[in-house]
Amino acid sequence: MPTLPIHDPATGERIDEVAADTADTVARKATAARHAQPAWAAVPMAERLAIGQRFRDGVVRELEPLAVTLTREVGKPITQSRNELNGLLPRLDFFLEQAEAAVREEHVYTGGGMHEEIGHVPLGVVANISAWNYPWFVGCNVIVPALLTGNAVLYKPSELATLTGLAITRLLHEAGVPGDVMACLVGGGEVGAALVAQPIDGLFFTGSHATGERIARSLAGRFVKLQLELGGKDPTYVRADADVKAAAESLADGAMYNTGQSCCSVERIYVHEAVHDAFVEHFLAAVAGFKAGDPMDAGTYIGAITRAAQLDVLEAQVRDAVARGAVLRTGGTRGAGPGNHFPPTVLTNVDHRMALMREESFGPVIGIQRVASDDEAVALMNDTRYGLTAGVFTKDEAAARKVLARVDAGTVYWNCCDRVSPRLPWSGVRDSGMGLTLGVAGIQTFTRPKAWHLRSP
Ligand code: NAD
Repeated sequence: MPTLPIHDPATGERIDEVAADTADTVARKATAARHAQPAWAAVPMAERLAIGQRFRDGVVRELEPLAVTLTREVGKPITQSRNELNGLLPRLDFFLEQAEAAVREEHVYTGGGMHEEIGHVPLGVVANISAWNYPWFVGCNVIVPALLTGNAVLYKPSELATLTGLAITRLLHEAGVPGDVMACLVGGGEVGAALVAQPIDGLFFTGSHATGERIARSLAGRFVKLQLELGGKDPTYVRADADVKAAAESLADGAMYNTGQSCCSVERIYVHEAVHDAFVEHFLAAVAGFKAGDPMDAGTYIGAITRAAQLDVLEAQVRDAVARGAVLRTGGTRGAGPGNHFPPTVLTNVDHRMALMREESFGPVIGIQRVASDDEAVALMNDTRYGLTAGVFTKDEAAARKVLARVDAGTVYWNCCDRVSPRLPWSGVRDSGMGLTLGVAGIQTFTRPKAWHLRSP
């Protein structure tokens, strides 16, 4: 039986070792899920909602040990682990409040002896291959609405957040979801690939563009519903009329929270030349206030870099930018070991020849570029293969709406950033992905419409 070692990225220490899946056990779990799904779909919605509520109760009951587990395995500061778990609760409430209405049959026409209805039927067996950076959010965005709408779920948490994945699965089982309806698959990319090879009805992926593309290629020709939530290079523009200090403080948090490892982290900042220098000073002051260190310390704001290989990416982006003329204002090289650490890093005098302004950094590293007009800012914001989020800081709502309407992204922000709402659809365009989670549409996405044409005798 293979095993998966679990390491603490803040210390490099091995903290656990868990049994891993193989291609055989993945196939067995997929077959069991296929057999179990129809009975689960036949469970009355009220009962599935009660199970969902008990899952929520379990999260609340175990919130502190769950936060500690998350911090130990991904290096997220403990305060931010607690925030993720507390932030999950309104998402669960939204799903529990909306699921029944979202999949209720719709009566759309009666006339000429005909009656027409739209039903929403579960996809069947859905696979969720997930990321480590917000494992509770990205896992539950799929698993919970998929289960509430009558699907069986084969869930492959990231190998870097496996203990959390196992905890999510255990709490769902304890709440009453049958074991075969909700299965956790433990392992790395090879276990994910074995899952993709199963006869599934939907694949919901959160992770990097490279893996998403690989999965899309393996599914080609199989007509399996595919959703991809991938990376971004999210820009924000600070106009000359913005509250510069407030914008700098908000954007420093948006760039560095979760140690910069958020899909919607602020990754590029464009500042109007009239306020550029003042903005940079406020930004550096905000960053200087971020305490880095032991993620278990409640005062720590910058934790560990979860994936060791990302340290090379961050250093390479800084080196490339500096070689092309950027000015390194703070940070720039990895911290001393043990563990994976990188300080908050700010570069100015940057431009789009630099990988720093084109490729996802996924760490506490940010470039700030001077611009002369709204038009220049919009052109630079759209000069990317990604399209997850984009924002603008200004006192002028009409100007904000005008800028944001021209930016091609799934989510846009006025005077805020790095924000997700359960009520709004979460989606990316171009290389940031396809499909959506959250919002009512993010519940219906786990069903397919069935058209009923009914003639009374
Ligand atoms: P990753 O692509 O390395 O891994 C994601 C998952 O894919 C893991 O579970 C991994 O085991 C699995 N996997 C790897 N190879 C596979 C294969 N060949 N077949 C099937 N599965 C395979 O990504 P990551 O490092 O876990 O996550 C970070 C990325 O996720 C960043 O780019 C981030 O922006 C993105 N992300 C996006 C969102 C969003 O909502 N758009 C949310 C969170 C993270």
